[in-house]
Amino acid sequence: MIIVMSPGASEKQVQGVVERLEARGYGHNVSAGVERTIIGAIGANEREKQYVAEQLSQLPGVERVVPILKSFKMVSRDHHPNGTVVKIGEAGFGVGHLGVIAGPCTVESEKQLMDATKAVKTAGATVLRGGAFKPRSSPYDFQGLREEGLELLAQAGKQFEMPTVTEAMEPRQIELVAAVCDGIQIGARNMSNFDLLREAGATGKTIILKRGFAATVEEWLKAAEYIATTGNLNIILCERGIRSFDTVTRFTLDLAGMAAAKLETHLPIIVDPSHSTGTHRLVAPMSLAAVAGGADGLMIEVHPHPDQARCDGPQSLTPKRFSTLMEQIRQLSTLMGTMR
Ligand code: PEP
Ligand code: MN
Repeated sequence: MIIVMSPGASEKQVQGVVERLEARGYGHNVSAGVERTIIGAIGANEREKQYVAEQLSQLPGVERVVPILKSFKMVSRDHHPNGTVVKIGEAGFGVGHLGVIAGPCTVESEKQLMDATKAVKTAGATVLRGGAFKPRSSPYDFQGLREEGLELLAQAGKQFEMPTVTEAMEPRQIELVAAVCDGIQIGARNMSNFDLLREAGATGKTIILKRGFAATVEEWLKAAEYIATTGNLNIILCERGIRSFDTVTRFTLDLAGMAAAKLETHLPIIVDPSHSTGTHRLVAPMSLAAVAGGADGLMIEVHPHPDQARCDGPQSLTPKRFSTLMEQIRQLSTLMGTMR
């Protein structure tokens, strides 16, 4: 970090900062300019860095403290400038691999799930999704089939030879989900549930980390770093829309945030056009925009009969619409040079 002293800072105040740095075991480099003195602190301890910076910023004569190291390291692109491929089962995401996760919002019944799985598999999706534990905004809404939903998902994955992902909402569900699924989804509402992130990461399974709808890109990447600290770098980030002043769509799909995050991290980033827009009418244009913008994959809700869905019907694609979209995605990804 760099400590910038105020223009009129005294020798004693500079010395005060130096002494504080020495006491915390930092090396330092004092550069006295014409107008102000700047002190470079060397040898940051990752765990202490944030609060030491905050403490230093309060010392007399200090104007501001500028952090140099990013607060995420393992997920930073600095370490893998060319990006990494992360897999869910055999499906690749990143560095030329465009993965498509598709399926119903929620597992509702055996027939609904089997019909949906058959449709997404036939159209070319590479991973099957389906919620068993559902994070509903209202406690009165359908909460998912829970364990029974997990079993059905595992059965569908086996029958149609597709890897599966589903959400775990709390640490106690991790073991259950990890036992049957190839990927564990951390939902937007839980992006900052750090115990959950660590528990999920520790399974070694691929983690799909959705961006919290009030989270900055940096907070999202720091959440991914929590997972990485368990030694698990099988992480796929998912942009799913953020809250904005505009209610024309369910959330505001932040494609620029997706592209900006890609500059910062080597991890693959996918886009969820279903939850971000809330309407099936915008799923195709936003899917194509995401792929054109460099997304490494998509997560799309598909229901055999959206008009009968118990959850998120309005944003779900029919099998026919999904199949048409997949054809367009294939053409675009050929143009983009991303193979699947
Ligand atoms: C989901 O994908 O099922 C879901 C609930 O999404 P999000 O966490 O992005 O709202
Ligand atoms: Mn949904």
